[in-house]
Parts: sequence; structure tokens; C-alpha cells
Amino acid sequence: MYINLANDTLNAEIWHRRILSGYWVLVIFMLAAQLIFMLSTHMPEVKTVLIPSKGHLFIGCNIMIVIAMILAEMWLRTTLQYHKQAVVVCGFIVSYLMYFVLEPFVDGAQMTLMMPIMIALVYFDQRLLHGLGLISLLFYAGVYLGLERPVLDKPVLEFLMVECVFIVFVVMAQAVIVRAREAREHLEQLTISEQELMVERAISDKMLKIDALTGLYNHKSFHEYLDSLLEQCESNGLRLQLALFDIDNFKQVNDTYGHWVGDLVLKEVAAKMGSLISLNDFSARYGGEEFAVIFTDKSFHDAYAAAEKMRINIAQMEHPYAGDKPITVSIGLCDYQLGDGKERLFRKTDNALYEAKRSGKNTVVTASVAHDDDPVMSYA
Ligand code: GH3
Ligand code: MG
Ligand code: MG
Repeated sequence: MYINLANDTLNAEIWHRRILSGYWVLVIFMLAAQLIFMLSTHMPEVKTVLIPSKGHLFIGCNIMIVIAMILAEMWLRTTLQYHKQAVVVCGFIVSYLMYFVLEPFVDGAQMTLMMPIMIALVYFDQRLLHGLGLISLLFYAGVYLGLERPVLDKPVLEFLMVECVFIVFVVMAQAVIVRAREAREHLEQLTISEQELMVERAISDKMLKIDALTGLYNHKSFHEYLDSLLEQCESNGLRLQLALFDIDNFKQVNDTYGHWVGDLVLKEVAAKMGSLISLNDFSARYGGEEFAVIFTDKSFHDAYAAAEKMRINIAQMEHPYAGDKPITVSIGLCDYQLGDGKERLFRKTDNALYEAKRSGKNTVVTASVAHDDDPVMSYA
């Protein structure tokens, strides 16, 4: 929101600058054209415009144009507010002054009077468009009735034509603004739908990967991740250890305190596991009350220490709703040996877990490097 506002302001400032620069180009071009025209022509009536008494506002208008431009330029450079108003007012004044300069020599000089309406279009400002359209209608009526009719004897038809062109310009500019707004709204709607779709996709992606009860990764994503890590072990020599956790006597918890207490214990144990693994590690709910942790980029000694720390921390948790008895886990840990493959890694880890259970639970048992079925005990 704040960024959008800042962007809008920045954008507006860019457009104030562009419009004023456009006017500068026009003014310089017009002054240069006048100079060339005056130097090159021999028409006597052109020479008279330089005589102030006969000058048809010529010199005065040019000077006022330059003054208006300089004032707007200074306003934009030295103040922080009302830049749009400065550009619009300057544009309006310069357009009419240009008209007075061009009028006696150029057919259709009224075109310059359409420029303020074009400014409203550039700003995509409907209110400004209506305001400038109305002012243009009234102002030109004043110019015609006060100056052009009595002094230049211009036909009423020309006056009506110019007023009609104002109206047509305003209507067309209005249509452009409405169309642009529709397109913008459509685009915004599309962006919103796209964002909603992305959020939905992210949620369903997460649901596919995450176990709903514990918030850990599920069985499927665990296997996908392990597959890709094992490839890296084989190709890049990445170090990897697998630990399988199984909650001890969990059936008893369910039977004694109910299934929902069992669920609560699963959640808490999972949260504790998640909080203890490092950024390089990966924890998943492997099955009902079984969890798996993949340690990477660690020595076997560090992985063992991490597993042991998790075991101790889990055993120290308090469970007032489950009779305040400690909940413990048995852990089988195996260091991946190059060439073993996933199946052998699992068999070794499972054997180690089995040995942990057999030897009294609440312990970490590491798989032997030499034989699949020869786990090494480390007592808690
Ligand atoms: P052991 O120490 O040998 O692992 O004994 P255990 O009781 O933990 O093992 P067993 O395999 O006999 O029982 C596992 C129990 O876990 C049985 C099942 O009801 C329970 N269980 C599995 N998934 C869930 C679950 O999502 N919620 C709850 N509350 N219980 C579950
Ligand atoms: Mg089990
Ligand atoms: Mg169990």
C-alpha cells in the first residue's frame, strides 16, 4: 500500500515533468518558427506586428508565454505541492497565448486550445477533463464575443465549430479514460485472481507435503527428499545419516488417556523434534507414532549427539494430561555408506531401532558399519 502510494506520487511527478517539458519543446519550436517566418517573409502586415501599437498582442503574448513557462518551471523545482495545478494552469495560459500569437497567420489555430483538454487525458483525470472542458467552452466564448467578433469580425459558424470541437474532444477523452479505467480494473481483477490461485496452489502444495496433525513433512515428501539427497551422496559425497524415532509404549497412552491425548503427545513430540533439528536437517512423520530425521553435512558423531539430545529433550517434556509420565522415544541411527542405496540404509536403521526397543527403549542405537544385522548399542 505504502509502496503503491510512493509509486503513484513518483509517477505523477514524472508526468508533471514530461508535460512541462513537452510545453517547453512546443514553445521553443514556436518561437523559432516565428523568428524564421519573420526574417524570411516580406509581407508588410507581418512587419507591423513588431510595432507595439499595431502589434496585435504579438510581442506581449510571447513574453507572457515565456514568463508562464518559467514560473511553472520554478514552481516544480522549488515547491513540493500543487505541481499538477501548476502544470495545468501554465498549460492553459500558454495554449491561449499561443492562440493569440498564431491566430492572424495560421488557419485552424484553435487547435492549440485543445491542448489543456489533452493534459487532462494524459493525467487520466475525469474531473479535470470536465473542468477544463467547461472552462475552455466559456473562455473561448469570452474570447470570441469580446475580441474576435468585434475586432476580427469572425463568423459565428467558426465560433460554433470550435465549441463543437471542444465538446467532441471532451467526449472522446472521456471515452478513453473510461476504457482505460475498465482495462485497469480488469487487470487488477486478473492480478487478484492470480494471487488467489497462487495462494491456493501454495496451500494445496503444502497439504500434499505436510502431515496435517504434526506439521512435519509427510511420508511421501520424506521419501522424495531422501531420494534426491542420496543421489547427492553418491555423486558429490554428501554426508548423510538417517534416524528413525518410535515413541515407546504409545499404545498404552492411547488406551489409558484416549486417542485425542495420543494425538496431543504426537504433536508435542513432533514440535520438539522440529525445534531441535538444524537448518541442514529434515524431520518427517514417517508413520503413526514413528518419525524420521535426515541429518546432512554432519559427522556421524555430531548426528549421534543431535539424536541423543533429541531423545533426552523429549524424555524431559512434561505431559500433565497424560498422567505426567514421561514420554520417551527409541531411536535407530545409521550413517550412510556409499553404494548402500536406500533399501539397505533403511534395513540397517530399522535393525538399529529394533535393537533399541529390544534393549529397553528410550535409547539411541547406531547401526554397525560392517553388518546390516549387527547394531551397536549406546545406552542412555
Ligand atoms: P513400542 O514401544 O514397541 O513402540 O510400543 P507401541 O505401543 O508404541 O507400539 P505399537 O506399534 O504397538 O502401537 C502404536 C500405536 O500408535 C497404535 C496406534 O493406535 C497408535 N497410533 C498410530 N497413529 C496414531 C495417531 O495418529 N494418533 C494416535 N492417537 N495414535 C496413533
Ligand atoms: Mg511403531
Ligand atoms: Mg511405538
